[in-house]
Amino acid sequence: MRKNIVAGNWKMNTTVPEGVQLAKEVNEAVAAAADLKCDVIVGVPFTHLTAVKDVIDMGKVGLAAQNCANHTSGAYTGEVSAAMVASTGANYVILGHSERRGYYNETAEMLKEKVDLALENGLKVIFCCGESLEERENGSFKDVIGAEIRDSLFHLSAEQFANIVIAYEPIWAIGTGKTATSDQAQEIHAFIRGLLAEHFGAQVADDTTILYGGSCKPSNAPELFAKPDIDGGLIGGASLKAADFMGIVTAF
Ligand code: PEP
Repeated sequence: MRKNIVAGNWKMNTTVPEGVQLAKEVNEAVAAAADLKCDVIVGVPFTHLTAVKDVIDMGKVGLAAQNCANHTSGAYTGEVSAAMVASTGANYVILGHSERRGYYNETAEMLKEKVDLALENGLKVIFCCGESLEERENGSFKDVIGAEIRDSLFHLSAEQFANIVIAYEPIWAIGTGKTATSDQAQEIHAFIRGLLAEHFGAQVADDTTILYGGSCKPSNAPELFAKPDIDGGLIGGASLKAADFMGIVTAF
């Protein structure tokens, strides 16, 4: 049985004290919530990982970095390796976010290397994919999403793939207030599950958690999460306020 997950992606927001405060609020709300139907993860800046780890109960709230290097160690000024992330106690890393692909030119090959290093260091990966507005409108979106998944993940064994969570995030819906309709999202989630079934087999596809991301909020989360192939969300803007984030966490 696959897990439902709601993961926050704080992006480049909050100072360390602000982030610690937000993490404490999420942790308390999760501890107080009875019978949650999903796992909860906070995806924080590198600078916050150690401090946030100290204020959350990791039995209840997972901890993610938002990136890691595609090299093991050495002369890569400013980079943070997967081993460094793992050494903070984080258990997840978000890879392939469209902001990283778009602003920092992350290629499928680099992401493949990052995925391998994350897994080698015991991190689970939240792997993002999704099409631009132009790709949605010209009809190439399934090809784009399929290539993103194939080119960075299909070299893995089925056993390794058990540590991958997919996040479908249409770029045109990220931070724009424009959410994909639940039918549009379901169509792509089912398409992704089909691709996984073809390559890894039905069991792996069925066991894989596929999250939706893109202007998800408490008001639209229930309809999205009610779809059979939508197993939760990767949440940007609405993860920066504990009450909004918890409104999504409790949407199942
Ligand atoms: C994201 O960037 O992962 C995201 C889903 O952002 P938002 O929720 O703000 O659209």
